Amino acid sequence: MPNKFDVVVIGGGPAGYVCAIRAAQLGLKTACIEKWTGDKGKPQLGGTCLNVGCIPSKALLDSSHKFHEAEADFKQHGIEHSGVKLDVPAMIARKNKIVAKLCMGVESLFKANGVTLLHGMGKVLAGKQVELTRNDGSVETFDAENIVIATGSTPVEIPPTPLTDDIIVDSTGALEFQEVPERLGVIGAGVIGLELGSVWARVGSKVTVLEAQDAFLAAADQQVAKEALKIFKKQKLDIRMGARVVGSDVANGEVAVRYTTADSEEEQSVTFDKLIVAVGRRPYTEGLLEPGCGVNLDERGFIFVDEQCRTDVPGVFAIGDVVRGPMLAHKGSEEGVMVAELIKEKTAQVNYDLIPSVIYTHPEVAWVGQTEEEVKASGESYKVGTFPFAAIGRALAANDTDGIVKVIAHEETDRILGVHVVGPSAAEIVQQGVIAMEFGSSTEDLQLTMFAHPTLSEALHEAVLAVDGHAIHMPNRKPRGKK
Ligand SMILES: Cc1cc2nc3c(=O)[nH]c(=O)nc-3n(C[C@H](O)[C@H](O)[C@H](O)COP(=O)(O)OP(=O)(O)OC[C@H]3O[C@@H](n4cnc5c(N)ncnc54)[C@H](O)[C@@H]3O)c2cc1C
Repeated sequence: MPNKFDVVVIGGGPAGYVCAIRAAQLGLKTACIEKWTGDKGKPQLGGTCLNVGCIPSKALLDSSHKFHEAEADFKQHGIEHSGVKLDVPAMIARKNKIVAKLCMGVESLFKANGVTLLHGMGKVLAGKQVELTRNDGSVETFDAENIVIATGSTPVEIPPTPLTDDIIVDSTGALEFQEVPERLGVIGAGVIGLELGSVWARVGSKVTVLEAQDAFLAAADQQVAKEALKIFKKQKLDIRMGARVVGSDVANGEVAVRYTTADSEEEQSVTFDKLIVAVGRRPYTEGLLEPGCGVNLDERGFIFVDEQCRTDVPGVFAIGDVVRGPMLAHKGSEEGVMVAELIKEKTAQVNYDLIPSVIYTHPEVAWVGQTEEEVKASGESYKVGTFPFAAIGRALAANDTDGIVKVIAHEETDRILGVHVVGPSAAEIVQQGVIAMEFGSSTEDLQLTMFAHPTLSEALHEAVLAVDGHAIHMPNRKPRGKK
């Protein structure tokens, strides 16, 4: 039966493609429908993450970091050069090459695992059928024992700053600038706004970030967020908190953005050559659900699912950005694996308490588990240890000493409740916390673990020692926490 599959996945981003590969590995006859069309009119897998998200943004972050190091840091290492020049089109072309390579890699993985790739728009019909509309308009219907919706998300637009062709752009447009904007505005001091603002600040843009909320990185531990804000300000990122954008005027190749603050009734205005709108993303379900198919949305437009990603229709699942929870590639991928395994083996779960968050600025900001604010609110007794990178030999050797590691543990059980880092390689250090916490480690477990010297990870070791007041490489403060 060529038109019948055990699993049809709609969407080939990190949630959908991982689900399809795992389902095929488990012996399920699997198809993945993807509507994204690449340069040559062929389907392009990888979704937001590979095409216009995680990967291209990191490629540009790495390029811009190298440029900034050459300009600002090489001299301190005794490296003299006669001037560094940036070729923006070459930087963008390198990014595009990486994206193409990874997207093709996913297609090869589909071939290797026997996943059928169907190019076009997928729609969920009643009775576990999926309709495929190809680019040429032809329509075909498939029967599926199981359907997995993984249609992702799309940037939120706001009325005061409607997107234009080349001045007011969203995150996708910000990955395509062909020259460095002299004055760059960013609306939104979230992960995406800070990362894209950093890319262009490092290569010479004067960057102003307008953020409506009063608290910087409200979801992060506030001690770490304050430390991060201090570092970003030192890097000359002009971050204006409590700035509510109310309008914009585009004229003569620039945009004037109007905003209000709590302190003043009067509107303020700031003019940019380019403006990036990075105020969040919303679930993408356009044209996806036939009325009467039985799959429901929640009040915010996400597909309604239970803890194991089941929709209201038995055999129909939804995963990734299109369902509740943080919009992160690794969260979607883990849900993809869980759903494939549920379909085949009936038991699987995702540990939603241990989803790492990372902001890939330099230095990075990363965390897992509970913030101090959350632990305090829970009423549990806890203890805290912090350690600065300024006292870590490897950080000094690399001339990269901004930031701290903070560990929060339960006062009585000693179990680690949260690991929060702003500093070099914060993401990699927090990942060690994720592993420790997944195994239910206490701070004593990590205190008794040997860390290689000299490494940045020693900051984590010292922070867990500091939890009990016996860090070695700094004078210990009285252990802090709530009893
Ligand atoms: C600039 C930026 C940087 C980011 N950086 C990071 C990061 O560093 N780390 C991280 O974890 N996350 C990051 N993210 C978020 C990450 O990209 C998303 O969380 C992730 O891509 C979600 O995966 P997904 O598979 O759920 O959806 P998506 O990646 O959005 O994929 C959905 C796919 O479904 C397809 N589709 C939609 N509807 C249909 C349909 N009806 N029929 C057929 N196909 C359809 C789309 O074409 C798309 O390819 C970033 C996002 C952006 C924008």
